[in-house]
Amino acid sequence: MKTGKISVKAENMLPIIKKWLYSDKDIFLREAVSNASDAIFKFERLVVFGEAQKAENEKMHIDVSVNKEKGTLKISDTGIGMTEDEVVKYIAQVAFSGAVDFIEKYKDIADKNNIIGHFGLGFYSVFMVSDYVELDTLSYKKDAKPVKWICDGGSDYQIGEGERTERGTTLTLHISKDSEEFLDTARIREILRKYCSFISYEITLTDECQEKKEDEKPEIINNISPLWLKNPKDCTDDEYKKFYKDVFHDYMDPLFWIHLNVDYPFQLKGIIYFPRLRENLDLMEMGQIKLYYNQVFVADNIKEILPEFLVVLKGVIDCPDIPINVSRSFLQNDGSVAKISNLISKKVSDKLHSIFKENREEYQKYWDDINLLIKFGCIKDSKFFDRMKDTILFKTTDGKYLTLSEYLEGQKDKDKKTVYYTDNKAQQSVNIDMFKRNGIEVVEFRGPIDQRFAQELEMREEGLKFSSVVSELPDDLVSGKAANEDDVKVLSEIFRKALGKDKLEVKAEYFKNENTPAILTLSEQSKRFADMVRLYGQDFAYKPDDEYVITLNPDHPLIKKVMDMRFDESKKECMNMLCQQIYDIALMSHRDFSKEEKEKFIERNYKLLEMI
Ligand code: ADP
Ligand code: MG
Repeated sequence: MKTGKISVKAENMLPIIKKWLYSDKDIFLREAVSNASDAIFKFERLVVFGEAQKAENEKMHIDVSVNKEKGTLKISDTGIGMTEDEVVKYIAQVAFSGAVDFIEKYKDIADKNNIIGHFGLGFYSVFMVSDYVELDTLSYKKDAKPVKWICDGGSDYQIGEGERTERGTTLTLHISKDSEEFLDTARIREILRKYCSFISYEITLTDECQEKKEDEKPEIINNISPLWLKNPKDCTDDEYKKFYKDVFHDYMDPLFWIHLNVDYPFQLKGIIYFPRLRENLDLMEMGQIKLYYNQVFVADNIKEILPEFLVVLKGVIDCPDIPINVSRSFLQNDGSVAKISNLISKKVSDKLHSIFKENREEYQKYWDDINLLIKFGCIKDSKFFDRMKDTILFKTTDGKYLTLSEYLEGQKDKDKKTVYYTDNKAQQSVNIDMFKRNGIEVVEFRGPIDQRFAQELEMREEGLKFSSVVSELPDDLVSGKAANEDDVKVLSEIFRKALGKDKLEVKAEYFKNENTPAILTLSEQSKRFADMVRLYGQDFAYKPDDEYVITLNPDHPLIKKVMDMRFDESKKECMNMLCQQIYDIALMSHRDFSKEEKEKFIERNYKLLEMI
């Protein structure tokens, strides 16, 4: 053995790097295994070019073995190997000078995640967990001799004759005291599964201290041909579902998925899944995109990779064009990540379009699950809105799913461009019935997002209006016959007095085929304002009680009764109670009663019943 010295300026980089990267030490294994995988890849290329020979049936593999007694962790490959010159050059000089550059440039950066690997710092990371490292390697080159290189991470090393008899490299890490966790097979398995589940060459894991049973096959860690690399045409639904469940540990099937296979403007392969969502999303269900670089796991916490509104998606993306060997903060600001995000958004809308066109029924089945996401996306991203607007569905109270144009097309008054909605089916049932009996479809709003989305549509579609069933009585509901003006005046006075609301607006309309005496309406604008105030928990700040308009149906027996009773002084109390009751019943379509209101209502009800 002879000794050598690395000609670098920084003498003490190891302690700095060790301390610096303390939080994600386990990345050293990813680096070592991906170097092994790179070395095999290089060898296979040479074989393809006829520059190296491979024995028939020779299988490329990477073996990781743990020996707790000896305190070693070995990573061995059947790759290209290195000659002595190459070890000196690539390991001792390139890898080390990378470490020096790293220290100089990055010492002030706070974000440590994933920074390793930068400047070829990959190899050097093994020193984070090792007292010293032995590298034993045999190059593919003819007449090459095995080389051994030993180093403790400082600038001195020893180099001499190695022991390997077959082409490839064995890296033996003599694990340091403070890194003993890496002598635990279970821990190593966990790290390998995280980073190396889909690496292209078979990885086995062996515990050297465990006695091997006869015929026992070594444990294989990875799946060398992950589904995303297969041609979408050759993948079955079951394969997609199984892959999803395996990778994301979800017991439920995904709703549907998108298999990405892009060559331009950058290379990207992957599968994006729409998971089944529950009504009330919680953080546990947030999606996750696992990013790979040539099948090596890089990260799954880069939220910029997805448009914000698609956070619930889960998937894998393999992108060899993305600069992985840099810090997370760098990646977040990198243009390629934004490009991926745009690409996913585009692919999602393409996919939805094609399901919509080719299988409307299927699309409708998904709609309840995905509508929230889509609407949110439309609000957040106008490009997405433009792409999706014709496939947005409105669910009617009868359970039909209609696009906006289908809805408007089905209305008698097409030019009005008004969509009638209910945001509380139970409460507003009287009004809904009235609309439906007159042939007007009512769509259901199921939460604040629908309100918000409607506003968005109103802004974008000239003349379009959303109106609640408690906001407006469309012409179709009334006969068009004008009520007698004097009668309206009289009724107005009676109701105002009876209710103690001298500013109440009273109207009269002959309802078409209705047995409802009165309907209370609140202008759409006031209703939205009240809803918003309620949403922010500020009900006390605004109550629209004085803004309701009551529309009476003069044909209704109860209204006729009120008109008759006004001449009889003895019926006055009864008449007032009747008016109050009619008002209150109409009010039920708008809101719940307070405790006092409810007590009054019930008491009055009994009194009226007594009068029968
Ligand atoms: P990078 O992988 O980005 O090139 P590393 O620091 O991880 O940087 O490795 C430095 C160099 O050492 C590699 O480029 C390669 O030439 C050499 N090397 C490392 N590990 C192996 C290996 N297992 N077999 C052959 N060469 C290796
Ligand atoms: Mg590397």
